[in-house]
Amino acid sequence: MQTQQQNITLERLRFDNSFTRELPADSETVNRRRQVYNACYSRVRPLRVSKPQLLAFSPETAALLNLPVEECCTELFTQVFSGNTLLPGMDPHAACYGGHQFGNWAGQLGDGRAINLGEVLNLSGERYMLQLKGAGPTPYSRNADGLAVLRSSLREFLCSEAMHHLGIPTTRALSLISTGDPVGRDMLYDGNLKEEPGAVICRVAPTFIRFGTFEIFSARNDLHTLKLLSDYTIRTFYPELGVPGKACYISLFREVSRRTAELMVQWLRVGFVHGVMNTDNMSILGQTIDYGPYGWLEGYDPAWTPNTTDAAGRRYCYGRQAQIAQWNLAKLANALYPLVEETVPFEEILQDYTRIFDQLWQKIIAAKLGLGSYNPGRDQGLVEELFLLLIEVETDMTIFFRALAKVAKLLVRDEWSDAQCRQALEPAWYRPDELDQAYLERLSTWLARYRQRLRTDFLAEDKRSLRMNQTNPKYVFRNYLAQQAIDEAEAGNNQPILELLDLLRNPYDEQPEREHFAAKRPEWARNRPGSSILSCSS
Ligand code: AMP
Ligand code: MG
Repeated sequence: MQTQQQNITLERLRFDNSFTRELPADSETVNRRRQVYNACYSRVRPLRVSKPQLLAFSPETAALLNLPVEECCTELFTQVFSGNTLLPGMDPHAACYGGHQFGNWAGQLGDGRAINLGEVLNLSGERYMLQLKGAGPTPYSRNADGLAVLRSSLREFLCSEAMHHLGIPTTRALSLISTGDPVGRDMLYDGNLKEEPGAVICRVAPTFIRFGTFEIFSARNDLHTLKLLSDYTIRTFYPELGVPGKACYISLFREVSRRTAELMVQWLRVGFVHGVMNTDNMSILGQTIDYGPYGWLEGYDPAWTPNTTDAAGRRYCYGRQAQIAQWNLAKLANALYPLVEETVPFEEILQDYTRIFDQLWQKIIAAKLGLGSYNPGRDQGLVEELFLLLIEVETDMTIFFRALAKVAKLLVRDEWSDAQCRQALEPAWYRPDELDQAYLERLSTWLARYRQRLRTDFLAEDKRSLRMNQTNPKYVFRNYLAQQAIDEAEAGNNQPILELLDLLRNPYDEQPEREHFAAKRPEWARNRPGSSILSCSS
């Protein structure tokens, strides 16, 4: 618990800007779009906004900085986190990075609309970079405006916090502020340019260094900066790996690979689809980063992606994320290779990724099904048939797995019936009319098989329910909930944002008065742009 003494004011935040202090700066200081060489960042100031208004803040993220709620309600807070005021000790800058986008090397990307304000050292000595997103153009803005619209900022703000409360590594969000300035956007890239309300969020993470940060220096054969960056990363964020050097770079890659495998398993557990897993959107800390056209599986479908920009290839669909992460890790390995000049250790780690991912996934699937352990020989068939059933008749993934704890309870009793189980599962089915005789028989067979497996499992019943309910969330940030909050916010009502923030604070708890937030997606939202159809336009 946060105590009174641990609180400080904004003016007393302690900045310790290791990134700008220890890494090379761009020698040019004019804020114009260009290629930046031999430098990790360019100093740049946030754009002034005309009428900043605080729409929401996260008290939990503020607490990481030792800022109490009252401090977040001050005018200074709004001025600082809209970009209008700098605090003493801040050193605003945009970082240089590159990346592979949709499988192709894209060259320099960089913080095109993100401006890092500085690194706070909190009272426990933890380091947090504060970063504004949507704070105006930088040398890395290419042909875009450096701004962000309210809808995408709201989505990133709420989803970052939702992910955190689900227990999944993520960058955090401190504040959501509307700027009062309009931003022109063509949401579906169909020639319909619209003015939308602008917004800025403040993101918080120990660092925003990405795979693409290493790639840009390697691609330019700037091995000097590559080494400085790698050594800085190890020293500052992975000190446990030891003194930078060949062995240590390999250890870094091994650890990033392990964390990335863990992250993929966690995304799959809750049905999260990132939507744009380009290498510039992969955090070196293994956190979820850059919330754009992401989405949550409603009907279970491994081929689903919310991102219209990726509709044809489905490169970043739900079911391919673990494999894509490995592809991205291979790009990171290529980037680090010049520091090591040996391929074998990287290849071994990349191969090991699959084994680590499989092991972690087996643990998670056992927990989702309420099994004390998973044995591939024994359990693979059970799991495979379950996912086939979920695909065949559109079934809401979140509701199904949450209901499974009830089903498991019924099944282990001596007296149970298919009908009881079906009743528990019913809220998960989108098309009950498609539940034909053949399907229901298959389901019965599966339930009988699951029952048999449960009865031989060592987990006690109360432990099983608890474990299942801590693994299978009741509430996720459903795409249509985001859209409803956006519609309201655009009409000037920020209450739904606050309510969702509160709801998603306890995603594993039953919240009886908020049952409706756990319901399956209403039909109107099936094909509505913004709900299930998103693009990179944000
Ligand atoms: P993303 O797809 O959001 O990961 O962005 C890819 C690259 O485009 C990054 O370098 C972003 O900073 C940049 N970018 C995206 N949107 C904008 C924008 N509105 N203005 C400037 N740069 C942008
Ligand atoms: Mg990005």
